[in-house]
Formats: sequence, C-alpha cells, structure tokens
Amino acid sequence: MATVLLIEDDENVSAALTQALTKAGHHVRAEETAMNALRTATCEPPDVVILDLGLPDLDGSDALRMLRGVSDVPVIVASARQSEADIIKLLNAGADDYVTKPFSAAQLDARIAAVLRRGEPHAQSQTLITVGPLSIDQGRHVALLDGQELELTRREFALLAYLADNAGRVISKQELVEQVWQQPYLGAEATVDVHVSWLRRKLGETAAKPRLLRTVRGVGIMLSDDS
Ligand code: CA
Repeated sequence: MATVLLIEDDENVSAALTQALTKAGHHVRAEETAMNALRTATCEPPDVVILDLGLPDLDGSDALRMLRGVSDVPVIVASARQSEADIIKLLNAGADDYVTKPFSAAQLDARIAAVLRRGEPHAQSQTLITVGPLSIDQGRHVALLDGQELELTRREFALLAYLADNAGRVISKQELVEQVWQQPYLGAEATVDVHVSWLRRKLGETAAKPRLLRTVRGVGIMLSDDS
C-alpha cells in the first residue's frame, strides 16, 4: 500500500489506472498537468510517482527534472518512447524505472512494489559500513568521506553502500544492475557507468587516479582502501 501520485492527462488512462491501483490497495492522487503535480508532490509528498511523458503543459523530461528539484521520491516513467537512448536519458534524468505504453495495471503495480522495495534499507546487510576514510550509515542514509558528509542521490547512495558492503571484491556491472537497480533493462550497464562516474566525482577522485573506486576493465568495479 502506497500513496501514488499519478500524472497523466489522458482521462481514460488515468481513470482506469486509478481504479486498478486503488483496488490493489494504493491511495491514488491523480493530476493532469505537470505544474499541478509538482504542487501536489511538494504539499502532499507521495511514496511513488507515475509520470506520463506526454503532458499538455511541460515536456515529461522537464517535468522529471523539476520534480527531482523538489523531491527524491521514486519516479516511474510511463512512455510510448522506447529507444535505448531515450530510456537512458530518462534514467539519467532521475527516473527510477519505466513502463512502455500500453502496459497493464498489474505490471505497473509490480513496478511500484519494486521501486518501493529498493527504497527500504536491506535488512540483511550491515547498517554501518566503514572502509578506510569512508563510513556509511545505511539506517540514517548518511555517507561520510574523511568526516565530511557526501551529498548523494538515493541511487548514488545505494550504489556506494553496495560497493562498500562488498569492499575488496570486484563486482560486475550485471551484479550492480541486479542488486542496486533490482531490475535488468535495456541499457542498464551504461547507466551503471554514468552513476559510477558521478560517484567518482563526488568522492573527489578520477578513474586515472582512483582512491577508493577502481574500474577493472572488462570485469567490473571494486571499492577498496589501499591507503
Ligand atoms: Ca499524455
């Protein structure tokens, strides 16, 4: 059961999804324009957002960027566009997942459950992880490097926590896709590359001069402290 903000301008689609998601036990708030949805997302923060890309007032990817400006809420994009480049662009703009139209309410419900699961701290993993200068508190969602708090997005935090939890082991991109993104999709490995490079920048290091994050060409990524 989740509070779902559904942003969809097609009345028929909106009504059908609202009915199905309500029946599945969710509380649904539907908006037809991006601007109204942004206001709702700020005033009544939802657990998850379903964003149609073809909206009357704003292009969906601009709406996504604005939403990301005010909220870290999981966003599932509903789109008829399906080229790999488009999907990667959306994921990099902050979408957590996507469904391609037409999709069933059951499929959407499964995606909602998956993004909400990802947001929960992993019960089986340690809450506090320390690797050299890096310490991660998974319960409080705080990562410190040399005592300074890192400003990470939810996804960057999850990626860093997974790498740190498996410090000293080279992890394949496929494993990261499965464990951090929890849903393999087209172009996912390229998305891992992009997130690793962002993480690297936030850790203040480069691929050429790694401190904690090492890319093992053709194998994967490893976090380790050799200092
Ligand atoms: Ca539309």
